Amino acid sequence: MKYYSTNGQAPLATLEKAVVKGLAEDRGLYMPQTIKPLPREFFEQCDRMTFQEVACAVADSFFGEDVDADALHRIVCDTLSFDCPVVRVTDRTYSLELFHGPTLAFKDVGARFMARLLQYFIKDLKDSKEVNVLVATSGDTGSAVANGFLGVEGIRVYVLYPKGKVSPIQECQFTTLGRNITAIEVDGVFDDCQALVKSAFMDAELNARMRLTSANSINVARFLPQAFYYFWAYAQMKRLGLEQQLVCCVPSGNFGNICAALFGHRMGLPIKRFIAANNANDVFFQFLQTAQYCPRPSVQTLANAMDVGDPSNFARIWDLYGKSHEAVTALISGATYKDEDIARIMQECYRDTGYTLDPHGACGYQALKEGLREGETGFFCETAHPAKFKEKVDAILSADIAIPERLQAFMKGEKQSVPMSKQFADFKQYLMSR
Ligand SMILES: *Cc1c(COP(=O)(O)O)cnc(C)c1O
Repeated sequence: MKYYSTNGQAPLATLEKAVVKGLAEDRGLYMPQTIKPLPREFFEQCDRMTFQEVACAVADSFFGEDVDADALHRIVCDTLSFDCPVVRVTDRTYSLELFHGPTLAFKDVGARFMARLLQYFIKDLKDSKEVNVLVATSGDTGSAVANGFLGVEGIRVYVLYPKGKVSPIQECQFTTLGRNITAIEVDGVFDDCQALVKSAFMDAELNARMRLTSANSINVARFLPQAFYYFWAYAQMKRLGLEQQLVCCVPSGNFGNICAALFGHRMGLPIKRFIAANNANDVFFQFLQTAQYCPRPSVQTLANAMDVGDPSNFARIWDLYGKSHEAVTALISGATYKDEDIARIMQECYRDTGYTLDPHGACGYQALKEGLREGETGFFCETAHPAKFKEKVDAILSADIAIPERLQAFMKGEKQSVPMSKQFADFKQYLMSR
């Protein structure tokens, strides 16, 4: 399978190149040239399959041409050693809990899969240069990537995060690991971290010296495996006899997760329509209303993993639907919620159903609840465990929610990080000296 760039100015790439490079030369995002549908029998039988079996079928369709079948099977099984249940919240509203991975984030699947696929390709690279993964994080991505890549030979990970701006639990999840993971504490905000990473990718001297790649959802190996979730959700809804007129709602920031769901749809996944839920950073919602895509600087909200002012995967969605606003809006609708809405939604849901939403999931729950039409059943993605945002959630719900053991374990380690200014010259000098 060949991959093309959404900007159309770069040569076609192999899967290996797309994964090792991350971004195309013209700064576009890689797209597979063909998206293979799954056979009808798959959809008939999927409710009797395990999560791993479902995921293997999906992975084979994406990557089967380019990765040896046994290796791909091992990569998938190594990635999915946990469950992600569909939980009933109201009669027609179900929560797809994507937070049962090692760091309790849905990004665990993409991060782990990418780590293993990168490792598979590295052994074929002609020189023995290490691959250096740079990742800027406002919290969740850093922990998922650090844990996904922990101990993977031949790969070194640098997690750049803004000093004092990530939650204490999140900070522990990537600063206490050691081994091939280095945490860099930047004296600045998230945008400064992102700017340092982008400058590093564009710096010729640095790139001649070391092999650099990104583990953000621009990487095909990071975002595509998230499609596993949606086939699995369908299978579980079918098991419950609720697969007719199914609506899928995804709280979205960089739009990697919903983009994977849309790839699933293109592969024949029988979901009727999609809802993208935004917080106050609602560039995509505005695009749906006006047909104008106008990126703007992000603002900080309660659902901080969705604080994105220029969602990178918009380019993929735009490309997938032939740059037609009409085609996009025929399948996808949107919703947007301010912080005060999010708090109220969390309170109402807790009061009326007993279900504890995190601020991200709250946007998804409400968008689905308001958007469902006669005869439809829907599921929304609950993208983070509420305990990851314990201080906020406790305050909003006047509760004291329990911290799962897995999260507590991270908090016992010793914090190690490299202090860094927000000047690129300092960051470059640091990388060059490694
Ligand atoms: C990353 C993240 C999102 C947004 O996902 P995208 O793929 O960037 O749209 C939503 N919720 C949580 C908790 C996240 O960590």
